[in-house]
Amino acid sequence: MKRFALAGNPNSGKTTLFNSLTGSTARVGNWAGVTVEKRTGSYRKLNEKIEIVDLPGIYSLSPYTSEEVISRNYILDEKPDCVINIVDATNLERNLYLTTQLLEIDVPLVVALNMSDVVRKNGDKIDKNELEKKLGVPVVEISALKEENLDELMVKSLEISSKKRVGHSIIEEGPLSHLINDVRIAFKGKNVENPLFHSVKLVELDELEKESHPDLVEMVDEFKKTFKDETFGDDFEALIADARYQYISKNYSGVLVKANKEKKEEGEVVLTKSDKIDRVLTHRIWAIPIFIVIMFLIFHFTFAEGLFFIKTNITNPGVINFFTGMGYEGMLEEAGGVAEDVVLEGIPSLGVFLQSWMGFATGSLIDLFRSFMPEGAWYTSLVCDGILTGLDMVLSFIPQILMLFLFIAILEDSGYMARIAFILDRAFRKFGLSGKAFIPMLTGFGCSVPAIMATRTLEDEKEKRRTIRLMTCFSCGAKAPIWTLLAGVGTWAFGFGDVFVFTIYIGGIALAIIYALLLKVFSKDTYVSPFIMELPAYHIPQPKNVLAHLWEKLKHYVIKAATIIAASTIVIWFLKSFSFTFQFLLLPEVNDAGETEYILHIEDSMLAGIGRVFNYLFYPLGALPGGWTHGEDGWKYSVSAITGLIAKEDVVATMAELGLDETSIELNAAGVYSFAVFNLLTIPCFAAIGAAHGEQKGKEFWITLGTWFGLSYGTALLFYWIGELYIVSLVGGILVTLALIGGVVACGFIVTSRHKKSNAMNA
Ligand code: GDP
Ligand code: MG
Repeated sequence: MKRFALAGNPNSGKTTLFNSLTGSTARVGNWAGVTVEKRTGSYRKLNEKIEIVDLPGIYSLSPYTSEEVISRNYILDEKPDCVINIVDATNLERNLYLTTQLLEIDVPLVVALNMSDVVRKNGDKIDKNELEKKLGVPVVEISALKEENLDELMVKSLEISSKKRVGHSIIEEGPLSHLINDVRIAFKGKNVENPLFHSVKLVELDELEKESHPDLVEMVDEFKKTFKDETFGDDFEALIADARYQYISKNYSGVLVKANKEKKEEGEVVLTKSDKIDRVLTHRIWAIPIFIVIMFLIFHFTFAEGLFFIKTNITNPGVINFFTGMGYEGMLEEAGGVAEDVVLEGIPSLGVFLQSWMGFATGSLIDLFRSFMPEGAWYTSLVCDGILTGLDMVLSFIPQILMLFLFIAILEDSGYMARIAFILDRAFRKFGLSGKAFIPMLTGFGCSVPAIMATRTLEDEKEKRRTIRLMTCFSCGAKAPIWTLLAGVGTWAFGFGDVFVFTIYIGGIALAIIYALLLKVFSKDTYVSPFIMELPAYHIPQPKNVLAHLWEKLKHYVIKAATIIAASTIVIWFLKSFSFTFQFLLLPEVNDAGETEYILHIEDSMLAGIGRVFNYLFYPLGALPGGWTHGEDGWKYSVSAITGLIAKEDVVATMAELGLDETSIELNAAGVYSFAVFNLLTIPCFAAIGAAHGEQKGKEFWITLGTWFGLSYGTALLFYWIGELYIVSLVGGILVTLALIGGVVACGFIVTSRHKKSNAMNA
């Protein structure tokens, strides 16, 4: 078996190539930091099985970011049989900077010129043979996205993987090359592998190199004394970088022949389609409003009970019922299977329509089971009131969650998500927040676990901590069922379910920004990571990618439902069905009509006992009528919030088991928001705790858990009382709001002025 590694700049298409070669569905992202860890898969179309390793995206092999260190160590220490250097042909010169460094390592190397479909479409041409001759390694033109020429790439790679290659440097003449050569001889004398690579790095006085070869540093310094450069003085790192760029611009500017060259020479700027779209979507002023509108439309189409807020008043003609799916929920319980009367006040969005039908399907399944099994038996209760009720709730949200992810996948695959980080960076850099930290956070819209892992790309320790702690502000997929359920409640509590969900997502971003600013001010920390990002050309999302993405989501969701969620529902069922003395609480009772009914005396259960204790803890978050901790149902919400710490889907699963659904939830707007905000910001799930523990040790980890809990508790408290005491807060709220705005502005000023000061000091 052979091992090939994919190395290249962020956004050059490594992950796309990896997926095409291995048939895997790793996440293709439009930004750096999505692939933080290396990932492996196998290619089986050749006689020999080949393992493919997708390395994180890098611009260079210096030791400054963890991606660079991971990739560099992998190539040097694990010695893959071949490195496939994937190069974005539309950005040839910048991409070749990394290539010039890979050339110095003694490893078989192939250059895969990716995005050749784009080059072709622009009418440009690349002189492949010329490039091959100059680099001295094979070059294959491919399109990872359209799967063009991939077989040829693999055949070529396999062919050269069995030949040895000795690294060569592009710095071939002049005193600098003599210097490098002298150091190389010293390395060779010590029998170090990859002498050329190490010698260049040692001349650069690279941190990693100095650490591993302290004995040679003195010698290099001695050699350097004979060397003088007027521009760079003794900054050898800059000197070598400059040599690379000069070499590239001298040798490769002719390799790419642009179709629109003539026009360009006349001084006319030729805009590609992508540039034109970007003129609108990343406009200085309109970018953020456009982003907000796009987000709103997504939630509107997924969660709105009345599309475009058009009012209708349609009462149950069967056809309408059929086309909306509404009124059929629990139809089997209705006499003769006739749908109940519903008044349709608006045209439901596709998401609501699908959810109604899904709810009907899963609800009917429970009824079916119930009709077969003996009434009142403990196992009927376990299956129907426990497992199935919880799963029904979780599974009935699948259509809406898939729709949401479909939209997010489209934004991501088309290239728009990358712009969001760029836009947010531009808006908040002044306040000391960097787009580099937004990237893991935007990943958090999918799942906090990879998002927390992606914080590894942040060099600054404080920024990394802050990003992990504020991750929960970005609502992950598992929280979506909670919003879906509350959207239904929101519709009658205060009008619009889609607006509710929209405010949760956008409000989460706003909260993250406010808290980040506050944390920055308190920690007196003004560092802002530099943020370099490729904005890939927009393209129509590939159905294959988007579907693969959705399939992964669906699989993940269903597997989670079948394992963690199902296990939790059993535990919850046990705790709610038995008393502390292990008495089964589902007891027969004769009602007024003389029929035997089984009633669960849940108020005597272990769960109620435990829940009441937690309810004291949460009491301030919803103490008045309409609040979630208030009254007889209060402990049920508290228990649900607690089970949500295991996995967020457990919140709705537990609520369902405790009989809280769209019709029985009696919360007002402040209550809904308080409950929502608590669940949004609190500890996400066991898996996320594990991920945080992987990134942070000891005290820092506990502070993270404390921050998650403290922020969620504090913010829910604030929301609840501001919302609830609106008369008092009409005055108080305005004051608090003004104070908050004042605070944010003041923070902004402090940070900006400090920023300026430190800039002035640096200058
Ligand atoms: P990575 O950061 O190197 O892993 O890059 P990705 O695989 O995430 O790809 C970045 C972007 O480039 C995605 O939007 C891909 O769809 C797009 N892309 C990748 N390969 C090609 C290609 O051959 N042609 C075109 N047109 N787009 C591509
Ligand atoms: Mg990638």
